Amino acid sequence: MKLILLGPPGAGKGTQAKMLTEVFQIPQISTGDILRAAVKDGTAMGIKAKEYMDAGGLVPDEVVVGIVRDRLQADDCGNGFILDGFPRTVAQADALQLSLQKMKKELDRVISLDVDAEALVERLTGRRTCKECGRSYHVQFDPLSQEGVCDACGGALFQRDDDQEETIRKRLQVYADQTSPLIKYYRDSGLLIELDGMQPITLVQEKMLSLLQAS
Ligand code: ADP
Ligand code: AMP
Repeated sequence: MKLILLGPPGAGKGTQAKMLTEVFQIPQISTGDILRAAVKDGTAMGIKAKEYMDAGGLVPDEVVVGIVRDRLQADDCGNGFILDGFPRTVAQADALQLSLQKMKKELDRVISLDVDAEALVERLTGRRTCKECGRSYHVQFDPLSQEGVCDACGGALFQRDDDQEETIRKRLQVYADQTSPLIKYYRDSGLLIELDGMQPITLVQEKMLSLLQAS
């Protein structure tokens, strides 16, 4: 299963990707997680990327395209992958297409999660993320069993620097301007499944699985 999860920040891509990795036994490739790891490690790429991330903008295409091209070559992508947060521009989508063609692989599906802007702000301001495994929780919609400790791996939770209201609004605008054209891009290629992301997490999950299993 070779999938893209498309949708604005806070739509639930990471949350659903974690479920899909278990069901299909394929890796989640989150460019946001990879970039945050590079920032944490203080690599040259991380130092450069941090400026864009803190401002709520996009990291330059050539950087993320290079990351994904290398990551797709890894052995664990042999049975497929879930791209979460990539592509985010038409140029990235074109570059992905080229990389997959060279590897003689094809995307199976692109799932677009649709969520209202105000719900996105509420989700992102209440998001708490595990430092170790990257799983997202929500203070209200997906609470932890034990305050500050990840249910999945026991890691510590933190609030992302870019999950502040001002930066969130900038990220939503960037999505509208630069990423939302991908909905038409993938609709035109016949790969798109559009899903109502406003439902509770478990219902979105059930619907996504039934659509994938039917297609
Ligand atoms: P994305 O990866 O698309 O940016 P996340 O999966 O991290 O989004 O989800 C953003 C926040 O919204 C998290 O705090 C998550 O727990 C919460 N969330 C995800 N899906 C839903 C949903 N269907 N209903 C309510 N909250 C959700
Ligand atoms: P995410 O974890 O997907 O919300 O991404 C966090 C931040 O990382 C984004 O706001 C961007 O600054 C950067 N980023 C992640 N993925 C990409 C991408 N595909 N293209 C450009 N920037 C990205």
